[in-house]
Amino acid sequence: MSQSPSKRAAELRDLLEQANRAYYTDAAPVMSDKQYDSLMAELIELEAKHPALADDASPTRRVGGAPVDGFETVVHAVSMLSIDNTYSLGHDNNSGLLDWHERMLKAAGGADTGLFVKTAPVLVADAKIDGIAMSLRYESGRLIRAITRGDGVKGDDVTNNIKTIRSVPLLLKGEGVPDVLEVRGEVFFPLEQFQRVNAEREAAGEELYLNPRNAAAGTLKNLDPAVVAARRLGFVAHGRGEISDDGFAESHSGLLDRLVDLGFSINRPRAHSADIGEIVAAIEAFGKAKDRQPYAVDGVVVRVDSFALQERLGQTSKSPRWIVAYKYPAERKTTVLLRVEHQVGKTGKITPRAVMEGVVLGGTTVKHATLHNYGRVRDASTNPEDPGAARTDIRIGDTVMIEKAGEVIPYVAGVVLEKRPRGAEKVAAPARCPECGGPVEVDPPGSDGTALETVRVCVNPECPAQVREKLIWFAGRKQMDIEGMGEKTVDLLRTHAGIPLNTFADVFRLKDHAQAMLTLDGMGERKVEILLQGIEEAKTRGLAKLIGSMGIRHLGDSTARSLARLYPDLDALLAASEEDLRPKTLSKDEARKRGLPEDPKERTETGLGRDTAPAVHGYLHSAPARRTFAELRELGVDTTSHEYKAASSRAKGAADASGPFAGKTVVITGTLESYEREPLSRLLESLGAKMSGSVSSRTSLLIAGESAGSKLAKATGLGVEVWDEAQLLASLAKLGIKPGA
Ligand SMILES: [Zn+2]
Repeated sequence: MSQSPSKRAAELRDLLEQANRAYYTDAAPVMSDKQYDSLMAELIELEAKHPALADDASPTRRVGGAPVDGFETVVHAVSMLSIDNTYSLGHDNNSGLLDWHERMLKAAGGADTGLFVKTAPVLVADAKIDGIAMSLRYESGRLIRAITRGDGVKGDDVTNNIKTIRSVPLLLKGEGVPDVLEVRGEVFFPLEQFQRVNAEREAAGEELYLNPRNAAAGTLKNLDPAVVAARRLGFVAHGRGEISDDGFAESHSGLLDRLVDLGFSINRPRAHSADIGEIVAAIEAFGKAKDRQPYAVDGVVVRVDSFALQERLGQTSKSPRWIVAYKYPAERKTTVLLRVEHQVGKTGKITPRAVMEGVVLGGTTVKHATLHNYGRVRDASTNPEDPGAARTDIRIGDTVMIEKAGEVIPYVAGVVLEKRPRGAEKVAAPARCPECGGPVEVDPPGSDGTALETVRVCVNPECPAQVREKLIWFAGRKQMDIEGMGEKTVDLLRTHAGIPLNTFADVFRLKDHAQAMLTLDGMGERKVEILLQGIEEAKTRGLAKLIGSMGIRHLGDSTARSLARLYPDLDALLAASEEDLRPKTLSKDEARKRGLPEDPKERTETGLGRDTAPAVHGYLHSAPARRTFAELRELGVDTTSHEYKAASSRAKGAADASGPFAGKTVVITGTLESYEREPLSRLLESLGAKMSGSVSSRTSLLIAGESAGSKLAKATGLGVEVWDEAQLLASLAKLGIKPGA
């Protein structure tokens, strides 16, 4: 057991990387998630305790990278060439697979028809994943750089993002790892993750990714590795760049075998033959099986196996002669657009949806397809395959091309302009919400001009289309924190016709419906009691929590708090002009004087942006908002600002540079009668205290409520000052602060 820390760290790293490899590369897990997490936690702790053990190749670094400001452009050691595509398996105007094969044979040795069967070189065909090409550079077995293909000559350094991909080895082990090894391959979005991420984006009102490749590209551009890690991208190796050891592999299939030994995943299935007929048959067989793969396969890469022959074949001005990519035809059909519906999503996003004459695509009849947004409706392609094709708006009666993205979501890819009927009606974007008639916000603003709009949203938080989600959000732990009002309860209450629950005010009227609630299955007396008590408590959260919980667009938690620091109550906030709400950055001195944080990011006075201030002001003064606020106030909901009060006392505290909490490290334990722990922590922080979760020799004060346990014992042992609740209240009272105010 008395193992040295460095030995244990090495052991843990091995175990974790073995588990990664088993899970992501071999699809044969060797430990449970729980075991993995606990080993990871042990390693994190060990590395924290012994900074000398830090290692960039440690599995702990897979998610540890800090967000970056941008990506550095790096020149590839060996250019990443583009590959010719072919869309036909036979002869086709010199561009089919057989045409390529004949050209290659000629170049390889001047073989004539009839002769080449004997001399035909071995070919390898492997499935082509629809992803993003990437070059990984290993030096002395360590991943030191990951570069996107870019223009082939130079690409972006996305190393921190690539490290989050668990099927990318950080450290290569075993015999004969070359000093320099560049592995090329494809970063891809597993289909299951693609569907999950798109569902989340839909719920968040963000635009959906068109297909997995598009999603992978978008993810790699993210500057925050933590976001990338959560996407669970995959990587397969399929080629080489610079390799310092000439004898590493002599053929493509040999290379792949070595890469597998080093822990990389490779493309499967794979066929190997000198007979082009067999290769064609394999491509057809892969095509039948491709929809069962966990990732999107869009074709097959066929290449000459021998590296020596590849070199002899060389390249044309455009691309290498020894390789070609066959692309499976995208499944596309045409049909007629009958009308466009305008759907309001859970977040208020309004999405145009095509209703079409039914057509069979990918085995199912498709009648509906997303049009994504009104920008695309106004600017659709007439040939999605050709970036230079003419563009047009989509009109009712148009013949449209539909495709399935990642074999999942049908979408309108383009318009067949020649078939447009005379006088076809334009699609009008709704100026008001089709569900509630509320105001609609267009992003980017003024999109009718140059920039095409990407989002159109109903900004009324009480829009019926969004009510369920908004209520659940409103009651959530991090918002109004209404105990007993989870998702299930919201749904259950809304099944009862006699219990109106459509607005935030309705929440605070639930106490009038206690009898009706008791008739619901699963709502016993105790549950109703807890719920009603939770609602009473939620009334006291104050202005910041209230407006931050309503789901007002551009008004999240931290922005709500910045506003609440500036206005003593709701009336004062409503009296502010749009100009007042626009952002102004304060000087450090001024920020300190006003009790605002010194962090420059938080020193903007309102927390709002130049573009978002008008939207927030617009909503606060809209008829639905006015009605909501009036009702909430009448129901006794606290609309005063706790932050404003705290900021003023902090400013006062800063003025006389003292106060009982200034500079102290404070820990709270046990249950307090008058304060919830979180608001109390924030209050004490505003009075200059540094809050901590655990007692140590550096703790200056422990506030102990009822049933305080081990922390109290420890503090007493260390001789830390301990206050009970009465002492706390007395001390706060001297500063003019009373609980609940
Ligand atoms: Zn609406």
